[in-house]
Amino acid sequence: MIPIGQAIQIVLQQTPKLASEEIALPDALNRILAEDIVADTDLPPFDRAQMDGYAVRAADVVNTPAQLRIVGESAAGAGWHHEMNSGEAVRIMTGAPVPTGADAVQQVELTREPNGAGTVEILEAVETGRSIVKQASEIKSGETVLRAGEDINAQTIATLASFGYAQVKVGKRPRVAVMATGSELVDVNEKPGRDQIRDSNNYTIEAYAKLAGATVKRLPLAGDDRDELKHQMEAAVDDCDVLVTSGGVSMGIYDFTKTAFKDLGAEIFFERVALRPGKPTVFGRIGKTLIFGLPGNPVSVAVTFNLFVRAALRAMQGASETSLPRFAAVLTRDVKGSQGRESYVPAILRTDEDGTLLADPLKWGGSSDFVSFARATALINIPADAKKVVAGSIVSGCRLPA
Ligand code: AMP
Ligand code: MG
Repeated sequence: MIPIGQAIQIVLQQTPKLASEEIALPDALNRILAEDIVADTDLPPFDRAQMDGYAVRAADVVNTPAQLRIVGESAAGAGWHHEMNSGEAVRIMTGAPVPTGADAVQQVELTREPNGAGTVEILEAVETGRSIVKQASEIKSGETVLRAGEDINAQTIATLASFGYAQVKVGKRPRVAVMATGSELVDVNEKPGRDQIRDSNNYTIEAYAKLAGATVKRLPLAGDDRDELKHQMEAAVDDCDVLVTSGGVSMGIYDFTKTAFKDLGAEIFFERVALRPGKPTVFGRIGKTLIFGLPGNPVSVAVTFNLFVRAALRAMQGASETSLPRFAAVLTRDVKGSQGRESYVPAILRTDEDGTLLADPLKWGGSSDFVSFARATALINIPADAKKVVAGSIVSGCRLPA
């Protein structure tokens, strides 16, 4: 049995980075950058008005009201490209270039323009630089603004668009094959017969794998039969980067997943992790394909997928951050530890009236209780050596992907 941290290290060491591909900007959302993004212009590209009003010389409007002659108009996309002199003003709009000679913009609300007079009254003084964003004050042309390995999210898109990245280089999506094992399983569109249950793990794994950026192929359900498992795996490994199975990795006499892996010549890197739930998690490789044998219990699947498989899928795409986002919160109920194993306890995060982050551990029936787990938003870490963590303690954990 190895500690979780070591297991994750092994996964990352054994995971190859896939090639990159160029895709259109609108398709790049939730992908991982495979190139540094470099500014091809200053931002702003010119001294830019931040208000609708009048471009002035601050020195002209020290004593107010000050009368200035309107000599032109600078609109967004259509600037006034002349020298503005003392005693003059230029009507200006937000986003427009500030003319040379002007050193401040007074907002329109603090001015008065008598009809047809060709002049404006500035009602309040402005200090030099007011409502002007200087050229290159945000970004200088040539600066690196985003790095390979960063996630492309909605916040990132404006940067990519502004610097002309109509095509973006991203890490290729890993191809995942999922395979639920267990002679008790029927598919979602079937009514379970005697002693049967519907498969949920394939769908859970598919959902989390997609959130991690992968494409997913669902393989037919496999019974607890060594040859059947072996043949299905053999057929699958050639056209996927990662094979994820669930079930059949415990100590039962019909648990054949590991045997089938080994029959296919798998190199096994670990098969037991000091984790609850999820101790019998298997990680290995057959040829070039990474293989994860996750336990069968649905909550164990969610936990082990997000700790190990998700890290591999993100590393394949070149992500610099491969672990789930972490938090610290106040525990609201006592939680028991698990001797010798670190626990990942499903919880709901919420904030109290003061904005303090609270973690409500789920009241649940254990790692088979996927219906309670449906409400979880996070996993709380209970250290391996803790008998119990009491309500009011600060606990840390990770947020589940959403
Ligand atoms: P196993 O790891 O095969 O011993 O399975 C542990 C538990 O998880 C058993 O109660 C199984 O019936 C259940 N289980 C295994 N695979 C699935 C699946 N694909 N969907 C739902 N439950 C499963
Ligand atoms: Mg089973």
